[in-house]
Amino acid sequence: MTPMSHFHAPGTPVAVLTTQPLDRALDYRAPAGGIEDGAYVEVPLGPRKVLGVVWGKAAGDWPVEKLRPILRILPVPPMSDAFRDFTERAAAYTLTSLSAMLRLGLRAPGLGEAPGKRRVYALGTGEPDRATEARTRVIAALRERPGDVFALSELADMASVSTGVVKGLVKSGAVLEQDTPRDADYPTLDPDRAGKALAEDQMVAASALRASVRSDTYGTTLLKGVTGSGKTEVYLEAVAEALAGGLQALVLLPEIALTGEFLHRVEARFGARPAEWHSGVTQAERRRCWSKVATGQARLVVGARSSLFLPFQNLGLIVVDEEHDTSYKQEDGVLYSARDMAVLRASCEAAQVVLATATPSLESWANAELGKYKRLDLTSRFGEAVLPKLSTIDMRDEKVPGGRWISPTLKQAIEARIIAGEQSLIFLNRRGYAPVTLCRACGQQVACHQCDARMVEHRFQKRLMCHQCGETAPMPPACPSCGVEGKLAAVGPGVERMAEEVATLFPEARVAILSSDLFGSARSLKAKVEEIAQGGADIIVGTQLVAKGHNFPKLTLVGVIDADLGLQGSDLRAAERTFQLMRQVSGRAGRADKPGVALLQTYQPEHPVIRAILSGDEEAFLREEADQRRAAGVPPYGRMAGIVISDPDGAVAFDVGNALARNTQPLDQVGAEVFGPAPAPIARIRGRHRVRLLVKAPRQAPIQPALAEWVARITLPRSTRLSIDIDPQSF
Ligand code: ADP
Ligand code: ZN
Repeated sequence: MTPMSHFHAPGTPVAVLTTQPLDRALDYRAPAGGIEDGAYVEVPLGPRKVLGVVWGKAAGDWPVEKLRPILRILPVPPMSDAFRDFTERAAAYTLTSLSAMLRLGLRAPGLGEAPGKRRVYALGTGEPDRATEARTRVIAALRERPGDVFALSELADMASVSTGVVKGLVKSGAVLEQDTPRDADYPTLDPDRAGKALAEDQMVAASALRASVRSDTYGTTLLKGVTGSGKTEVYLEAVAEALAGGLQALVLLPEIALTGEFLHRVEARFGARPAEWHSGVTQAERRRCWSKVATGQARLVVGARSSLFLPFQNLGLIVVDEEHDTSYKQEDGVLYSARDMAVLRASCEAAQVVLATATPSLESWANAELGKYKRLDLTSRFGEAVLPKLSTIDMRDEKVPGGRWISPTLKQAIEARIIAGEQSLIFLNRRGYAPVTLCRACGQQVACHQCDARMVEHRFQKRLMCHQCGETAPMPPACPSCGVEGKLAAVGPGVERMAEEVATLFPEARVAILSSDLFGSARSLKAKVEEIAQGGADIIVGTQLVAKGHNFPKLTLVGVIDADLGLQGSDLRAAERTFQLMRQVSGRAGRADKPGVALLQTYQPEHPVIRAILSGDEEAFLREEADQRRAAGVPPYGRMAGIVISDPDGAVAFDVGNALARNTQPLDQVGAEVFGPAPAPIARIRGRHRVRLLVKAPRQAPIQPALAEWVARITLPRSTRLSIDIDPQSF
């Protein structure tokens, strides 16, 4: 149901949806002067004042004198009908409360604050009168980001100091305290500047996208082309069309570290930088972005998945770059897929979506097959660049000493690159030093005490870390199980250990590690990526962080340490993931007219997925994968939902799961089947035991209302939490 825009006369009852977890709008009295639907307001709730949005006519029939008044209308344009419509649909689709969905759209820092109330802090010219360690950290944090201004608590958090430390630096002039600057307009992007001269297939794709943007209707296009085929150039043409037509555009990237290169390209194409929205920008900058998007002044936004909830006024285009990337799935709080939400938002806004990728997700590929999405293919790499040549290294034939993982064949290939002055990438999708830390006295592995997970050694930080809950601990001198000292041993390789091996094998080479743990901020990662791109390393050792669209012109060799890694386990998406990851990471080799090579170390070169990766016949692989999923009735040919029940007591979680499994009547009615309860893939996190049920239904089944009714029949114990994940990542 599309909410109809409506003006409410002074003193009449109106509904206001607040960000408080109430799951329904509350009734208030319209202020003198009346009020519009979608207006951002401040209303009293109990003793407090809370933010909300006017959400249609009052729901109840309270006499209007009994209603409390709306206190204040915020000086920002109202939320559009399309955005409210999207909020309602997204809530219904993900089975999230409306208020939780609204909160995603109100994440502008200081939105409700009176103007001028907030002070901001920046680097000053003075010296601290007394240089304590805490003070030095504040100055260092500011120096790392010259030109940025920060809120008090934000700066204190960045430097891990109390706000008092920041305040203490103001007097000496080492830190400047200022009024919040007025949000400056973003510079104007010029869509008429000449872009690059496009190759034939780029031109065909670009004009198709331009025409769809001009159509002012909803549509989704899968833009498929190998890495380096010029997809970015093509979708920038669609952006140009949106800008020329007075529409706003949003480009989603899966990884903040990719924004640096993208910003440069936008600047080269349109003469100015776009607005940015992600965790790497300051609160002040996010506030500016939110309000300029709301007024329509910010015309192009580059952002992370949460930028889908910005208050666009006239959105014409959403690009989801690297659409297959799993990080588009939000796994905390509101569970949603940014790719699916982009399509939903665009359909509410009559906008176009471009899904760009070299290795489409099976979902998007199938939707294109079904004709729900259009499809455009770029078939060759731009210019002279050719695709890397892929081959396997059969590890059964290689002699590798214990505690080492680089085969003689791979070693030789790296040597040849060093001599040629080219870069190599050693890829292993495992963070840390070693996946297992084992006591050689008692044989026990060091485990997280709150999770069903091993503690992973991170040698650079000299700590153990749980990759589930993030808990860290110093490396213990003795085994936590048996207490024997000096017997803890690293088992298996992680990227840090690979870097060590590389340094031993190639003592002369400059080695860079790219793993998310080693960068304190998005900015430092961005800087490292740029340094490597300039040739600042001979060998890069990296996790899946490097698989994502980074452009290293001198990189000509990719060595995959363990191509079999992702094929273990029972996840139905394992084949798809491995295929995508291997193709993506191989695609890093040999851009810019230097031919590249990818070598995959494997113990099972005859595995069908490994063979498909080598043959590079994506269509054949996807067709086969599609056949299997169709036969099993799983996504994208069936619908799936995961229900995770967690409780400090595992038996309680199982009881709830069993109670649900016994009474499935609402699901039976829509033809859905229930599997489980079974321990969730990670059976305990942060001390909570987790039990999972999987619900499988035919593709067209109206599964959400049935799920809602089903779980509503259960009264949860106070300690128990239940979450529903529509389209879970693993099943
Ligand atoms: P993709 O997004 O498919 O990986 P890009 O758009 O990044 O590909 O293009 C790969 C490289 O080729 C980039 O350095 C880009 O600047 C260059 N390139 C692509 N198309 C053209 C063109 N028409 N003219 C000049 N350079 C191009
Ligand atoms: Zn843990």
